[in-house]
Formats: sequence, C-alpha cells, structure tokens
Amino acid sequence: MGIDVWIDRDKVVSNVVEETTTSNIPEQAKSESVNKPIQVFPEELATLKEVVSVCKKCELHETRTQTVFGVGNTNADWLIIGEAPGADEDKQGEPFVGRAGQLLNSMLLAMGLQREQVFIANILKCRPPDNRDPKPEEVIACESYLRQQIEHIKPKIILAVGRIAAQNLLKVDTPIGKMRGNRYQYPDSELPVMVTYHPAYLLRSPREKRKVWEDLKIAMKLYKEIS
Ligand code: SF4
Repeated sequence: MGIDVWIDRDKVVSNVVEETTTSNIPEQAKSESVNKPIQVFPEELATLKEVVSVCKKCELHETRTQTVFGVGNTNADWLIIGEAPGADEDKQGEPFVGRAGQLLNSMLLAMGLQREQVFIANILKCRPPDNRDPKPEEVIACESYLRQQIEHIKPKIILAVGRIAAQNLLKVDTPIGKMRGNRYQYPDSELPVMVTYHPAYLLRSPREKRKVWEDLKIAMKLYKEIS
C-alpha cells in the first residue's frame, strides 16, 4: 500500500522504490558513487567547501572521515536538507547515498525531478558518531555554512526531510507529524520550507510513504504557485 502512491505516478518510480527494498542496492549505490567524478563548484561555493573541509568548530571534526558538503545543481530551485551524514555518507563524501539515498531519488523522480536537478545538503557537514542526534552546539557551530550555501544557491523552496532537519532548520520543537503540510519560512527570509519524513524512516515504516506523497504534492503545488 505504501508503494502504491509511487506506482500511481510512474512505473519507473515504482521500480526504483521496489529496488530500494532489495538487499543489493547499497553496494550498487556505493560503487556508483565512488566512481563518480568529484563535482566542480562555482568559485564562491568551492571556496566555502574548502573552508568546511578543514573546519574544527565542533568536536565532530575529530571523528569524521571527511566532511559532506552537499551535491547537486548549484542553481537549483529545490534544496533538499537532511540531518547529518551517516556511515556511508561519511565514507563517500556525498549526502543521501545507500538505500535512503535511493529512496530519496525515487521521491524526487515522483516529483518529476532528477537528483542532479536539485541540491542536497545536511544540517551538519560531519557525521555524529554512532548516528546519534546532533547536539545543539554542533548545529549552532555548523549553521552558518548552510546559510551561506542557501545564499549562493538561491533556491525557491526548501524540502526538509526528517524531524531533526526540520526542527533545527526552523528552530522549533514541534513534532514532525504536526509540521507536515504546513508552509514555513527559513529564518530571517521569505524562503518557503516544507517538511516531510526522512527516507530512512520510510525504509523502516513503508506504510508512511502515502503521507510523504501527500507532502510532496503539497510542496509541488506551492512551488508552482511561487514560480
Ligand atoms: S559539523 Fe560543521 S561545525 Fe562541526 S566540525 Fe563539521 S563542518 Fe565544522
């Protein structure tokens, strides 16, 4: 039932989602990502990426393999923001790889977007050990980087995926279930922010895919209104 919402949209989408439920995808995704050329950013973002790559503003620099700056179209209308790198992302230096990344790709595909058309980043650029939640001081230390990314990319809309991303981005403690479907604004701006569940949560709770599809439809409607 959770997959039906994607099947209705596009058979290709359903195939991708089906694949994310099989066990061989993580290794596939891993090897594909490892073999990808490193993205070359415009000068200002490249400089920012360099700064981030040597950042020691919080304790997470001690345990990271590398920073995970973000990836995608630097002129994107859509900015997708997650929580923080996980183990795979820390190894590969790219956000949303592995099964959750595959499912995010299928969510984007259902919206008529290729992964390469959007920009994908996280609240934190370094992996919290054991995938623990980010500490408030880590979010504060890192948030200027995301703000600078937003200033350079100038997206038309942000999609925050997951509770941690949504709450830290918007400085609220509202449960994510109550945030879904509502239009928020990125602090000190008029940039709209919509919220939905994290793909990793959907892998654990596939029935919630229907709710995510509802969220994405609302976000797409808003995007059309503001474009
Ligand atoms: S999480 Fe952000 S603030 Fe902390 S070390 Fe990494 S880049 Fe710097």
